[in-house]
Amino acid sequence: MKRFNKVLIANRGEIAIRIIRACKELGITTVAIYAEEDKLSLFRRKADEAYLIEDHRGPVDAYLNMDKIISLAKKKNVDAIHPGYGFLAENPVFARKCEKEGITFIGPTYQMMEQLGDKIQSKIVAHKVGVPTIPGVEKPITSDKDALEFAKIAGYPVMLKAAAGGGGRGMRIVESEESLLKDFKSAQNEALKAFGNGDIFIEKYLQQPKHIEVQILGDNYGNAVHLFERDCSIQRRHQKIIEFTPSLSITEEQRQAICEDALKIARSVNYRNAGTVEFLVDRNGDHFFIEMNPRIQVEHTVTEMVTDIDIVQTQILIAQGLRLDSNEIGITSQDDVQVSGAAIQCRITTEDPQNNFMPDTGKLEVYRTGGGYGLRLDSGNGFTGAYISPYYDSLLVKMTAFAKDFEKARTKAVRGLKEIEIEGVKTNKDFLINVLEHPTFINGDCDTNFIDQNPELFK
Ligand code: ADP
Repeated sequence: MKRFNKVLIANRGEIAIRIIRACKELGITTVAIYAEEDKLSLFRRKADEAYLIEDHRGPVDAYLNMDKIISLAKKKNVDAIHPGYGFLAENPVFARKCEKEGITFIGPTYQMMEQLGDKIQSKIVAHKVGVPTIPGVEKPITSDKDALEFAKIAGYPVMLKAAAGGGGRGMRIVESEESLLKDFKSAQNEALKAFGNGDIFIEKYLQQPKHIEVQILGDNYGNAVHLFERDCSIQRRHQKIIEFTPSLSITEEQRQAICEDALKIARSVNYRNAGTVEFLVDRNGDHFFIEMNPRIQVEHTVTEMVTDIDIVQTQILIAQGLRLDSNEIGITSQDDVQVSGAAIQCRITTEDPQNNFMPDTGKLEVYRTGGGYGLRLDSGNGFTGAYISPYYDSLLVKMTAFAKDFEKARTKAVRGLKEIEIEGVKTNKDFLINVLEHPTFINGDCDTNFIDQNPELFK
């Protein structure tokens, strides 16, 4: 076991602040890195030390520059690196480099990442342990002939997916033979350009599914537990906007089955650290594994609120070599993980819903948040006078409402959103309120097509 004195956060914005806070509570010194374009950002001021990473290729390259980050970490005597989400979080090359240099990578091993980071590989893992996957091919398709053959048997619509895809990108819904021929080549090219890997696979497109995912924690000794599910069906272009827990649209038996299947996948690779196993649930209530994300997720907050387990701190403790049943972590068995209440997270972004969610930029002339009992805020640059730049993700603040049950949490979230006053930059606040006040949402019954099918949300 190795106690960390100093942790470097290889990320920016709200997740960098979230990790800094977790470290501080554990008595660990924090080191931030930042790009020139982020020199006024709040996260660098929250850290004990902050260093500019010069990379003139572009604003995101500083956060991807493995060699500069590792050499800085060594120079500053850093024990471990937390990658957050995005950037280098799922990059096995980076994890491997860290380990080689004697710096702990706070996450799974690079071998686990290699095995699970690829959507085709992880489907094979699921298959081996008997967890249902969406009918499809389990190898990259190299010719449109193979794609056509599959679609003929499975029936349209089908989905083309990039093996290395993420963030809702690299996916195409295909309705007919004609479009399959057209889309196959362009999907391949696009995947190669976006992810550096042109592998494409094909599977059945599920109509109106729900996205249910399970939070996993595993230590370095093969012990793993689940922290129950999150319902992330409120999506736009396959990207999550509002997430909540517990899900209202699965029965207790389904919940147990889905969480058990998530654990089966995690256990099959001796998964360590925090990870999320994602499923789609179809209209018959059957669930299918889609992928495993070997990192902390944006929506981890809702799980923290209902289980009272600090997932980011647990990630750090696990990386130090502590067992799940150690005094510090305190999870001796699955029964120690109990859910109490309900939580809903809204992603407030600087996007204009009236203009196809175009990101907006500029100075926050006014920034007043909602707050009070049961509302948690995680933000990157949430303050009056902050400059919202065009270079990064448009997530401004995550508002998580926590209460005794879903309806109370929903009411609280609406109240909190209505309290927010932001001027100078457009946000999706009113859109979020419309979603939360929609009868289908009130019933907790939205599927992944909800936003597309309800144009009135944009008013
Ligand atoms: P990413 O890694 O880009 O987030 P995922 O594989 O997790 O991609 O899928 C993201 C979303 O895309 C899902 O939550 C779901 O809404 C949609 N999706 C993915 N696969 C299918 C499918 N076979 N049928 C219907 N929707 C799908």
